[in-house]
Amino acid sequence: MNALLEIRDVVVRFRVRGAVFSSAGSIDAVSGVSLNVEEGKTYGIVGESGSGKTTLARAVAGLHHASEGSILYRGQELRGLAEGAFRPLRREIVMMFQDPIGSLSPRLSVKSLITEPFRIQGMRERDLDAEARRLLAMVGLPPEFAARYPYQISGGQARRVGVARALALSPKLLIADEPTAGLDVSIQGEMLNLLARLQDELGLAIMIITHNLNVVRHITDRVGIMYLGKLVEEGETEAVFAKPQHPYTLALLAANPEPDPDAQLMRVELQGEPPSILRRPKGCEFHTRCPFAQPRCATEVPRWQAAKGGAHRCHFPAGWDTAAAAS
Ligand code: SF4
Repeated sequence: MNALLEIRDVVVRFRVRGAVFSSAGSIDAVSGVSLNVEEGKTYGIVGESGSGKTTLARAVAGLHHASEGSILYRGQELRGLAEGAFRPLRREIVMMFQDPIGSLSPRLSVKSLITEPFRIQGMRERDLDAEARRLLAMVGLPPEFAARYPYQISGGQARRVGVARALALSPKLLIADEPTAGLDVSIQGEMLNLLARLQDELGLAIMIITHNLNVVRHITDRVGIMYLGKLVEEGETEAVFAKPQHPYTLALLAANPEPDPDAQLMRVELQGEPPSILRRPKGCEFHTRCPFAQPRCATEVPRWQAAKGGAHRCHFPAGWDTAAAAS
């Protein structure tokens, strides 16, 4: 399987003002992240608010500048590309934003919204109608939706319109930021099934940004867990859910309201709140919250090390007996 997207040691740095911020006057919202997204596969990026997952996705989509590292898309370096050079790639790398209705212009009909790229190319009205019908059918909406306006559709329908709009460009990589946020559980399932079906039919690679572990479990092939802008664990979804190596992953899985019935995971609770990205803890940056922290963790930065099917950043990976502790 070929990597469609290769992200290597990417840093996204923002300048900040004021004495309260770091002395360098900048923060690394994403810090040294590496991962691959394979053709036709789904990669999930998981983390709490402020973990850097959306910033990373926006860097891939060319909406943030990556300060360091490399973002290779089909072998082409995206980092440092001027807007004019990136523009043709916006047909292939498409980002679906979090707010479904807010991201749709209220003055445009659904037909206008989803056929905009064809209209720009000068397509005739009759052909635009046909394109609208085709795209709506792909996302499971009836043709009469073409005449509706965003205020006349539900949040779930707006998501589908957002997907149809993204598909109009025939993308190779779809970046979906919280594709199920704010939807009822049953509609969430429909949305995930839709993405999975489209991936099968179109061979899309999908990068899903989410804090919802059930989304990850149901739809992704690989998953990366982010904490304070860094990956702390990455690997095949099945392996990570069955036997997480990093305590943060374990804690997220243990806190999942719909846990995997086949995985017997120790119940752990995180201590305190995430530290500010402006004042990263020394050593392992997770040590202030880690229930398994040892003295070494407060002083020594853990290496990124390979594990079966993935990699993690912990001195004492999987240092618990999952089966015995599952009670
Ligand atoms: Fe916890 Fe130590 Fe592993 Fe960090 S290195 S996650 S503090 S056990």
